[in-house]
Amino acid sequence: MSRTSSYSVDPARLEGVVREPLFAAVAAEAAKQDIPAFAIGGYVRDRLIGRPCKDVDFVVEGDGIAFARSVAKRLGAGEVHVFKNFGTAMFIYADEQVEFVGARKESYNRNSRKPEVEPGSIKDDQERRDFTINALAVSMNPGSLGALVDPFGGIMDLDRGLIRTPLDPDITFSDDPLRMLRAVRFANQLGFVIDPLTFDAIKRNAKRLEIISAERIHTELNKIILTRKPSVGFILLRDAGLLQEFFPEFVELSGAEEKHGIGHKDNFYHTLQVLDNVCEKSDDLWLRWGAILHDIAKPRTKRFEPGHGWTFHGHEDKGARMVPGIFRRLKLPLDEQMKFVQKLVALHLRPIALTKVEVTDSAIRRLLFDAGDDIDALMILCRADITSKNEKKKERYLRNYEVVMEKLKEVEAKDQVRNFQPPITGEDIMRAFNIPPCKLIGDIKTVIKDAILDGRIQNDRAQAWELMVEEGSKLGLKMEPGSGAISSK
Ligand code: ATP
Ligand code: MG
Repeated sequence: MSRTSSYSVDPARLEGVVREPLFAAVAAEAAKQDIPAFAIGGYVRDRLIGRPCKDVDFVVEGDGIAFARSVAKRLGAGEVHVFKNFGTAMFIYADEQVEFVGARKESYNRNSRKPEVEPGSIKDDQERRDFTINALAVSMNPGSLGALVDPFGGIMDLDRGLIRTPLDPDITFSDDPLRMLRAVRFANQLGFVIDPLTFDAIKRNAKRLEIISAERIHTELNKIILTRKPSVGFILLRDAGLLQEFFPEFVELSGAEEKHGIGHKDNFYHTLQVLDNVCEKSDDLWLRWGAILHDIAKPRTKRFEPGHGWTFHGHEDKGARMVPGIFRRLKLPLDEQMKFVQKLVALHLRPIALTKVEVTDSAIRRLLFDAGDDIDALMILCRADITSKNEKKKERYLRNYEVVMEKLKEVEAKDQVRNFQPPITGEDIMRAFNIPPCKLIGDIKTVIKDAILDGRIQNDRAQAWELMVEEGSKLGLKMEPGSGAISSK
């Protein structure tokens, strides 16, 4: 099945792959010990296509751990970390992670990703790799130093931009279903196409994802989300039947129903457009998740209202309530990141909705208060969400968006409510009226907060104190003697 003979590789392309002094040390050790050694995998692939790469993997036909120790010693590198269970050893050299493993042959059991492993040849090792472009090896051995070892035509696929498995794809994917997600991820990251036979096998094996842990799934998914144009990956995931296996809510966004000649947009493609738009402005993974989930509750809130057409009332609140369940299932972090995504989903309609009425300072202050430091992220999402095909509508939304942006700047400069800290604390209120902790304190604080946000008083301790005294007396509370003055903080 060797395809290398029909495809000549310009030796100059390989020159950049072999680097001093790490590679010289590996070559010298391979010669001394008479052990075949090869650079392999993602490192070789990335060097050949000029992508930056930090980590280097080597395979030796023999004891990888002992070999790593000799190379590290020769280089005067630091500590060698050994992972006995995997038969691998790693050290850091010149800021790069260098890993060694003995060439392996694997056989899989149907119910697990964990293969039975035994020593093998370089070819055995290349066969167990996921794609031909990831199975490329470069010899570190005397007589063939720097030569490409490519039994499956990986270099050809690299040049054609093709993702293809070295063996029968049904076997490759059934052995380790995570590889199906990796196929999509590489296609998306590298701008490659998945070979049709490989893609058909993914469709046949999609259900096998059930044996893969949520952590491994979300790691690959996040890599897709962090590409320049993740819509490409998501469409592949859905078309292959993979997305259904771990993120059915997203697939449910697909389709555009029509009633009495009135349709609505396909929210799957709309969401992907919003996601791509956000990606042009921000690399923040969680803001990107905000885009993915902003309309997630549309299918569950969809109604056809005669006279109005399609509505999705409350999809922002319902969507925000769906976020924890989705994050929990995918084992994504449940703390700040999840709360941030939830907040974006809950607030995503607010900035534009503001423009339906005249944009008052008070409405802007409330938006700033609710969004806090996440206002910039929210505005990126909001801008990305303006995708209407109707040019007039789009222009109007964009104009409204600009109005809100301007107002935000104005109010921010004036009022500093982005990180609102109440000028009167609960402690102050308890001391002033000599009362224990109780509901009244929260009520008074809310009155003061609303007065500031509505612009009735300034965000200032003296004015807030006056209002507190007034509210207290309405509630029948008596000032504690001696606390009448505005105590300093
Ligand atoms: P990246 O580092 O950008 O994620 P990579 O191809 O280097 O891409 P790694 O996960 O670092 O991926 O793995 C290094 C190499 O190990 C791959 O190039 C491939 O040869 C092999 N490999 C990794 N994961 C698998 C897998 N699940 N099945 C088969 N081979 C794999
Ligand atoms: Mg890698």
